[in-house]
Amino acid sequence: MIIRVRLAAAACALGAALTACGAPAAPPAARPAPSATSAVPSRPPTLAPGPAGLTPVFKNGSRAHGKTVALTFDADMTADQGARAASGERFDNPRLIATLRALKVPATVFMTGRWAEQYPVQARSIGRDPLFEVANHSYSHYAFTGDCYGLPTVSEDRMRADVERAYTAFRRAGVPDAMPYFRFPGGCYDHQALRTLSATGVTAVQWDVVSGDAFATDAGAVAQQVLEGVLPGSVVVMHCTRSAAPATERAVRTIVPELRARGFRFVKVSQLIGS
Ligand SMILES: [Zn+2]
Repeated sequence: MIIRVRLAAAACALGAALTACGAPAAPPAARPAPSATSAVPSRPPTLAPGPAGLTPVFKNGSRAHGKTVALTFDADMTADQGARAASGERFDNPRLIATLRALKVPATVFMTGRWAEQYPVQARSIGRDPLFEVANHSYSHYAFTGDCYGLPTVSEDRMRADVERAYTAFRRAGVPDAMPYFRFPGGCYDHQALRTLSATGVTAVQWDVVSGDAFATDAGAVAQQVLEGVLPGSVVVMHCTRSAAPATERAVRTIVPELRARGFRFVKVSQLIGS
């Protein structure tokens, strides 16, 4: 299991390309009309800063507040993969997004800024659909520590700018309300990275369930790994890219009805953090 986890994480980082979730641009779903109790938009919930003001790290929700689970999809694309995209490699996965919509599964998409630039129509469609929330997975998908599965590294003095550049890319694509949540590329971080990002106000979001979908071709194995790992409050990490995670959409079609049959309810990361 540990080996599988490491392999999956390594595949994510090495592939660096795990791209993302795009969805065919279905007409953006309308946001619900504000009700009397929700007329004032509230700021997304975040965790309080850690000791000495460090960026807080969220891994999973409470185990004692009911059977909720958050599926998260990383929309990876490294800053230097434009040529591969230009030659036809697909870093998006419209079918996955369509399936989540058809099954009415709320989800959090950790998007790189580079992906939003490559697929602005899809980024906007995801970002404007109340079923989803867009969070930050860096601009470049470079690592924020050394020795992170072979990923190139962002220098310390560029870390904040890399995060902010992703938010700028989201806005330019038409994503209105990206969340103040950040997932480190490869999941790699250290004390210095947490200190450096503290001024951005983000909550770092890790996970407690690795799906193993990176470069997997056996959707049944991915589904099994998720179903074996999920607990109340879990955060599941998956990917949204045809080229580097080709089995994910099929795995989701197994995972969703099975977890619902077990009494689980799907929520976004913000709902886990807020509870
Ligand atoms: Zn990633």
